[in-house]
Amino acid sequence: TGSLMAGKRGLVMGVANERSIAWGIAAACAAQGAEVAFTYQGDALGKRVRPLAASIGSDLVLPCDVADDASVDAAFESIAARWDGLDFLVHAIGFADKQYLRGRFLDTPRAAFLQAVDISCYSFVSVCQRAVPMMRNGGSLLTLSYLGAERWMPHYNVMGIAKAALEASVRYLAADLGADRIRVNAISAGPIKTLAASGIGDFRYILRWNQLNAPMQRNVTIEEVGGAALYLLSDLATGVTGEVHYVDCGYHLVGMKNPAAPDI
Ligand code: NAD
Repeated sequence: TGSLMAGKRGLVMGVANERSIAWGIAAACAAQGAEVAFTYQGDALGKRVRPLAASIGSDLVLPCDVADDASVDAAFESIAARWDGLDFLVHAIGFADKQYLRGRFLDTPRAAFLQAVDISCYSFVSVCQRAVPMMRNGGSLLTLSYLGAERWMPHYNVMGIAKAALEASVRYLAADLGADRIRVNAISAGPIKTLAASGIGDFRYILRWNQLNAPMQRNVTIEEVGGAALYLLSDLATGVTGEVHYVDCGYHLVGMKNPAAPDI
């Protein structure tokens, strides 16, 4: 524990359970003195998120479906009723119909494409629109991406397109908000076994492949993503914006299978 985030208030969106990347980030911020509010999607997840929030001293836990503007407005109104400002926001939300997270990207229907981009990319723009007016003393906005935004990955398909749009959105938002001392960044995380990841075809194989071929010869943890997020959300990173920061045990630099790795 420390005091890097003392006096800072932040909203963390996207905790589903204790394995969520959003939870790794929230716990890291709380351990450094941040006050954290949470949003969750649907009553079933609310029952999981409330005790997690309570474990770090938070009772500001609100429903929010980012596909529904009225729901997003209501969540931010509730936060504004409790807090007079906001210092950071974490967007750890993504969704695509899992029927299209396997097979060929070519076969993606329009509705599945638009839904993936709406929930995984536009929602970041939408929540930034509502967070920015609360960040009168500057702030830090953070989202989560994956290497499938830049390279072909088996089964990632329409999510790769949504993440590419999300990473481009980070750069445009950073330019819009820089003069207001509001920074916008993404973390490109290596594969982690979460609820969302389990929807991707052959995810166990992807985890094993990364473990064997990453320079560090292991997979990254939510605690490690939390550590990197802490840097980007804190005043340590006041000179950093528009960045997509890899937290992937070095996997992004790999150009070829490690010949020493066993066959899988
Ligand atoms: P997770 O399942 O724990 O979290 C995903 C969250 O998105 C859930 O809390 C879910 O409720 C939320 N969500 C989906 N649709 C929503 C909607 N309409 N409104 C509100 N919330 C909604 O999984 P995670 O892996 O922690 O995912 C967090 C982020 O990290 C996602 O953007 C994901 O793409 C990204 N990411 C994950 C990995 C990985 O391997 N797990 C790697 C890189 C990036």
